[in-house]
Amino acid sequence: MDIARIAVHESVAKACPLEAMVAALQGPDVRVETVGDDASFDASDCVVTFSPREAFLDAAWVHGIRAGYDEFDVDAYEAAGTVLTNSTGIHGDTVPETVVGYLTAFARRLHVYRDRQRDNDWTQEPYDAPFTLTGEQVCVVGLGTIGQGVADRTDALGMDVVGVRRSGDPAENVERVYTPDELDAAVADARFVVLCCPLTEETEGMVDAALLAQMRADSYLVNVARGPVVVEDALLNALDTGTIAGAALDAHWAEPLPDDHPLWNHESAIVTPHVAAATSRYHEDIAALVRENVERATRGESLRNRVA
Ligand code: NAD
Repeated sequence: MDIARIAVHESVAKACPLEAMVAALQGPDVRVETVGDDASFDASDCVVTFSPREAFLDAAWVHGIRAGYDEFDVDAYEAAGTVLTNSTGIHGDTVPETVVGYLTAFARRLHVYRDRQRDNDWTQEPYDAPFTLTGEQVCVVGLGTIGQGVADRTDALGMDVVGVRRSGDPAENVERVYTPDELDAAVADARFVVLCCPLTEETEGMVDAALLAQMRADSYLVNVARGPVVVEDALLNALDTGTIAGAALDAHWAEPLPDDHPLWNHESAIVTPHVAAATSRYHEDIAALVRENVERATRGESLRNRVA
């Protein structure tokens, strides 16, 4: 594959400044420029993008700047012979650190005190509300880049880590690994269930009313994966009825989350606007991945993170 141009689509601005991305991608061998929806592409183009567009199928290669590529039509890429790569592998610190933040907030009640601070409210939580993460069980669903990062950090905090992975093979810092068909058992004893899997046909709606009913009444669900992995009504109902104690959601069913969505004002929910992976060096991490693949393409090698 001979890449003459890296076209940075304007949708990249959803995750980082376009100018920063263009600067980070610069190299002696290829032209780097920003493009909008009116651009056309040919077989010497690599497109770097946040969102899919049909016109990208004319390029040689499209790089999605997120780990999840559920919005891209993989079959169409394969039919068109256009290579598709994703950004798995760069979120091993950012998202897990955010997850540790949610867990700590729930255990130490920080989200509640931050809310009360707005009203100069000195009210302390009931004696039995705060707890420590140490000794609590966390169930990490999906043990890829993010899941392993969550497992490593929660293990270091003294938590009892169990996980779910398709192969069921052991994973570092995970005491017990379950397979997806054992999900009920995997979540049953956990104080926290952390979703770190991709959105696929298999995972869509995976967290439904039946699974939530298997979780402990004092447990928390964390979704840093994709909104539709969780059945929206089932979660809202579980929060309203006390089936589970709370939820931290970075990934939502519709983004932005609509103004009138009940989660905004739910006292046992932490809502973040899909920023678990945000970092001021996101452009550098993406550029390193793309530059490495440009070199691989030049050498005729297969590309890293190829999904089509
Ligand atoms: P990854 O590909 O490294 O890991 C995903 C893991 O999930 C893989 O090991 C895969 O085998 C496993 N998996 C697939 N189906 C499963 C199932 N049914 N049960 C258990 N495990 C299953 O990807 P990653 O970088 O760790 O990212 C994971 C997902 O997190 C992405 O697909 C994306 O949807 C989401 N994500 C969200 C953010 C955010 O900002 N909130 C950022 C990055 C990624």
